[in-house]
Amino acid sequence: MTKKRNYTPRIPATVCPHCLTRSIAYDSVEIDRLTREIRYVCQNPDCGHTFVAQLGIFRTVRPSLMPNPAIRLPHGQWRSKPANDDNRVPANDDDQPDAAEVSPAPG
Ligand SMILES: [Zn+2]
Repeated sequence: MTKKRNYTPRIPATVCPHCLTRSIAYDSVEIDRLTREIRYVCQNPDCGHTFVAQLGIFRTVRPSLMPNPAIRLPHGQWRSKPANDDNRVPANDDDQPDAAEVSPAPG
């Protein structure tokens, strides 16, 4: 079942990775409900780079009031955090002595 969209998505411009000039989306295709591939062309005539980017939907910030059961997204904040910014104690670095250190086995 394909539901027809009632609007044409407007794809944002981005920056050419080579010359850092504004690049315009001139075509996009839906890969799936959560992913689009976008073709960009750099607006710098001395560069002319044409490239493909992906637009992905990664997580929910506020749940939909019309949820589609086929769409499963994790919940999260709108900005992602670096993967290494948690403050977990390493598994071998806690202050609690092991049971064997407290009461050695008789014998
Ligand atoms: Zn460029």
